[in-house]
Amino acid sequence: MSLRPEKAELDVLKPYLYLNEKEVQKSGVVKSVNTIFLTNKECPFKCVMCDLWRHTTDQHTPEGAITAQIEYALERLPDASVIKLYNSGNFFDGKAIPKSDYSAISEQIAGYDHVIVENHPKLTGPHIQTFKDLLAGSFEVAMGLETIHPEVLPKLNKQITADLFKTSTEYLIDCGIDVRAFVLLNPPFLTNESENIEWCLRSVEFAFETGVTACSIIPTRPGNGIMDKLHEEGKFVPPRLEALEKTYELALKLNRGRVFCDVWDLEKFSDCNICINQRKKRLEKMNLVQMKLPEIECSCR
Ligand code: SF4
Ligand SMILES: [Zn+2]
Repeated sequence: MSLRPEKAELDVLKPYLYLNEKEVQKSGVVKSVNTIFLTNKECPFKCVMCDLWRHTTDQHTPEGAITAQIEYALERLPDASVIKLYNSGNFFDGKAIPKSDYSAISEQIAGYDHVIVENHPKLTGPHIQTFKDLLAGSFEVAMGLETIHPEVLPKLNKQITADLFKTSTEYLIDCGIDVRAFVLLNPPFLTNESENIEWCLRSVEFAFETGVTACSIIPTRPGNGIMDKLHEEGKFVPPRLEALEKTYELALKLNRGRVFCDVWDLEKFSDCNICINQRKKRLEKMNLVQMKLPEIECSCR
């Protein structure tokens, strides 16, 4: 924590970001999705690779702040059928999202067909069903599996095992809740490119075996302090854009369910200003059509 850069300045009555995008649903239909990135108390887990804390606060989120943020964002977002309430942590951490706000939140989002939140596998329990029962539409929980590499996962300080991810996923599915997994490409402590691709794909396969309906591949980024130190020490290597593209193509080829490639800050993984925009657009399109598209030609390849 001592290596961290400053947190962002935030207003607890405003989400730190909100956006509208398209995403293919498990039915295969592409729908409009509103995502609200809620400002709230920092996640108590301190995963090595996490940089989500930058947009969090140190204090418990006051009652009513989350509903104020949702109202602020919904007034500015277009109509959509799916909503993601992402809180840089765990929706079912009562210090981040006060339980007393559940009912008001559910009323605010009653017009949506499908609701997605993020949560840590350890925070799985009957309270999730309680929230689901308040919703008008279907419900989905996104959880970080990160990697199933047996030596790397314990070092991430995520405080989970692959087995815990599996048990939590099965519990949620039994409650009628969909699950999506976040999987890292190039977690810290794994520096060989082909091993990274292999373990990312193995983790995606594992996630689908547990019953998730979607996997998001996240290229691990430097920038949170400790990751930059690990980078300097040779214990972390950010993925090359080529490796991310290859991994994503192979993950789609598994044909086990929807796979998404996270293109946030994609510029960080490329040195070429000529092709980066086209390559980003290609990956965004692949996220929608769920198939490999022709590669972008460039002299940098
Ligand atoms: S559980 Fe998620 S939000 Fe919390 S520290 Fe780990 S990666 Fe970050
Ligand atoms: Zn190029």
